[in-house]
Amino acid sequence: MIITVASGKGGTGKTLVSTSLALSLGAENVRFFDCDVEEPNGYIFLKPVIDKSVKVYLPKPRVNIEKCNFCGSCASACVYNAVAVIKPMAGKTKGSVLFFYELCHSCGACSLACTQRAIHEEPGEKGEVETGTAKNGFFFAHGRLKPSEANPVPLVKAVKKYAEDGKINIIDSSPGTSCPVVQAVNGSDFCLLVTEPTPFGLNDLALAVEMTRELNVPAGVVINRSDIGDSAVEEYCSKEKVPVLLRIPFRREIAVAYSKGIPLVESSPEFREVFKKLFYDICSIVEAKRRQK
Ligand code: SF4
Ligand code: SF4
Repeated sequence: MIITVASGKGGTGKTLVSTSLALSLGAENVRFFDCDVEEPNGYIFLKPVIDKSVKVYLPKPRVNIEKCNFCGSCASACVYNAVAVIKPMAGKTKGSVLFFYELCHSCGACSLACTQRAIHEEPGEKGEVETGTAKNGFFFAHGRLKPSEANPVPLVKAVKKYAEDGKINIIDSSPGTSCPVVQAVNGSDFCLLVTEPTPFGLNDLALAVEMTRELNVPAGVVINRSDIGDSAVEEYCSKEKVPVLLRIPFRREIAVAYSKGIPLVESSPEFREVFKKLFYDICSIVEAKRRQK
């Protein structure tokens, strides 16, 4: 089973929920994946011993300018505007083909479009996947996107490859509803959406719910700091028939412990049973969805 923990916006407590869920379920069957590859922070709470690091490479286009006739087909083919062709000016400048690798998605379209065979591909480092064992014994993996790299999706894919059938695979996605989040949520059995009871929380939750519907992934909501703010998130969930599976009240001691890297279920052990029940509720929803198929 794959459970992805996501949130429409940052700072709602997504990692607080994902790490506490993992820590509540025992070490044997759990595998934890931090797919927030631009800013992984699950390790702060799970304190893994990392024993393996694998670099992730993607093809990067290079040009042999001697073969180029400056036709511009490569630039036209690139939907990411990652190529610019500068035509030569007789007697003044040599032409050139410039690749903006921060924008390049390694799609290969430019080399396919080049009839002169002037473009070839070389491996370019995207980042790395580190794997190891969390402090309480379960498998841990996270991705680290190389600074200056723009597209985290391939690294999210690389982290997810470590998920195993028959295990409880818990994925902590990046916040928002952009491509890396879609990549993290896609193919999950369930998506837990963490939000807060504020107008911003509601707005971003609604976008996240739409995303899970597009991906046909069943979803449920965790409302963090549930006793502050307003009731609009509850009303929205009721109207949209999205179950609210857990409410975590605001407590100063939880926030203080969290700021020191202490997971919720360690600072407030009574939450272990709460998170176990959350897991069983998720299993019931997943099972009901399977029966409908
Ligand atoms: S498509 Fe090939 S030949 Fe044309 S400008 Fe690009 S690299 Fe040069
Ligand atoms: S590989 Fe794709 S994204 Fe990168 S420069 Fe070529 S066409 Fe653009």
